[in-house]
Amino acid sequence: MSEENVSEIARKLEVLKLRFKEKAAKDISRLQQAAEQFRVGRFGPNDVVAAYHSLHRLAGSAGTFGYTVLGEEARALEVLLKPLAEINGELAPAQVQRVVDLAFVSRVASLVDSLSLDPVASQRTGAALLPVTVEAATDAVALVVHSDPEQAQNLVQGLELHGFFPVAVPSLKRAVEHGLADVSVLVVKDAKMLSEGSVLESVADTPPIVCVGAGDSFDERYALAECGVDGFLCEPVDVPLLADTMERLITEREESGSGRVMIVDDDPELLEHYGLVLEQGGLKVWRVNNPADILGALSEFRPDIVLMDVQMGTFRGPDLARLLRFEPEWLGLPIIYLSSENDREYQTDALAKGGDDFLVKPVSDAFLLRAVSVRCYRARQLDKLVSRDSLTGLLKHSVARSEINKEYVRCQRRGEQAVVAMLDLDHFKHVNDRYGHRTGDLVIKGLANLLRHQLRKSDVIGRYGGEEFVVALPNCSLIDASRVLQSVCEHMAGIGFQSDGQEFHVTLSVGIVPLQNYLTSDDAIDAADQALYRRKQAGRNGVTVGEEAPITERTQV
Ligand code: GH3
Ligand code: MG
Ligand code: MG
Repeated sequence: MSEENVSEIARKLEVLKLRFKEKAAKDISRLQQAAEQFRVGRFGPNDVVAAYHSLHRLAGSAGTFGYTVLGEEARALEVLLKPLAEINGELAPAQVQRVVDLAFVSRVASLVDSLSLDPVASQRTGAALLPVTVEAATDAVALVVHSDPEQAQNLVQGLELHGFFPVAVPSLKRAVEHGLADVSVLVVKDAKMLSEGSVLESVADTPPIVCVGAGDSFDERYALAECGVDGFLCEPVDVPLLADTMERLITEREESGSGRVMIVDDDPELLEHYGLVLEQGGLKVWRVNNPADILGALSEFRPDIVLMDVQMGTFRGPDLARLLRFEPEWLGLPIIYLSSENDREYQTDALAKGGDDFLVKPVSDAFLLRAVSVRCYRARQLDKLVSRDSLTGLLKHSVARSEINKEYVRCQRRGEQAVVAMLDLDHFKHVNDRYGHRTGDLVIKGLANLLRHQLRKSDVIGRYGGEEFVVALPNCSLIDASRVLQSVCEHMAGIGFQSDGQEFHVTLSVGIVPLQNYLTSDDAIDAADQALYRRKQAGRNGVTVGEEAPITERTQV
């Protein structure tokens, strides 16, 4: 790898590190305010849990970015707060104040000092820090393995516009030497894959691989499939199509190891054991030791599946399953019994009462992890079919509206601010008429992927109608939202879509309003739509803030 490429990777890693630092600083500042409020006895039902999760996140991520001291201190504070966070129910101020005393508050405050300590240099750093502005985004690092620097650079530039962090490297061998742990996807020239593919055998967890090349025959494609390639595109590469393929593979990979499982078991040791096994396998776990806590825990955690013991003191799993089905919300939730009961008759009876499957104890740790992961994945796929738009994978109209309403309620309850935005592609009818409906679909997907990259994981993104999208940005000022969405508009305008060798560009109009300023969330959506309409009249391609926004905010934007 040339020195230039090494420093390019280092620079991008530094950008990721800076992004972490900026986010961590915000987290710490929020934690500091929260801790002070807790100490004087002021907190809502979920505030302690939210603070605990923030500490947990910091503890889990700081080390990765070299902030070891910060990670360890956040872990120590997390452990202190954990017993409170685990209480399902109202907390008394005295309970909280026993843990969150002056010393706790000052330890939280000094977390920010650990952020100003130089992070321990990872083996890949070395480039000088560049003055980059860091946005709250989720860009994926993509390594472009190509021996032709010019073609590699074209791909890099094209992918950057779609919100990826692409880095060109001349060979797979060099890519492997540098480590693939932070890489979300590999884009490899087919000839390189066929000649060097075996170097990937030494990599434990290879990212998905998309090949580009001339290899158009069945035999060539079969050879690539044998090498473990996940996608193939003919050269010259249609970059939006490539970006879409990459996006799909990244999402599939993320989802395969990110299930949410609730375990209900009255035996604390078993509960802990199953929990640890599944957590080690990358799943998120919520442990319920007392079956009477199950409804509250479900609402809070929203698992993909429930793993339920059958005999739990005075409670029986099948009766609990039946009770859960009283609530329409949990009708489709898969419940898997984990039981030593291997009588077929009994199993069938238990399933008839509202369970979905049986895992018979004893199960090996490896089997449990595999069985649960597969079921989580399937449950997510099913849920996606119901709640996600099939073209873009974004939330469907009705689901997006209901999520925005939940955000609205949260804003009203906590006095927080959020922004709702309506987005609509400009002159899209013309795109369809000129380049065809299929190309039009790719443009719609392109915008969906861009939104996924540029917005935060916590933002609500829905496909509202044909070429219309709705977005809600929790904990966000109108000014920040305007900046982020203006950047989305600029990226969108920069993407070169292709049709029959012709390149064309599509712009985007956006209307935004502060969600909390309206009587209902639907009113806010309507107001954002009116702002969008005004943007269309004012020349399209950009962001317009709704008239009803407070005058002080509006003049600043
Ligand atoms: P404006 O800038 O005023 O928004 O003009 P426009 O042409 O984008 O707006 P108009 O509402 O007149 O047209 C929207 C077009 O979007 C018409 C419709 O055929 C197309 N469309 C809606 N859904 C889809 C879809 O899923 N795929 C494709 N390819 N086109 C779609
Ligand atoms: Mg339109
Ligand atoms: Mg429209």
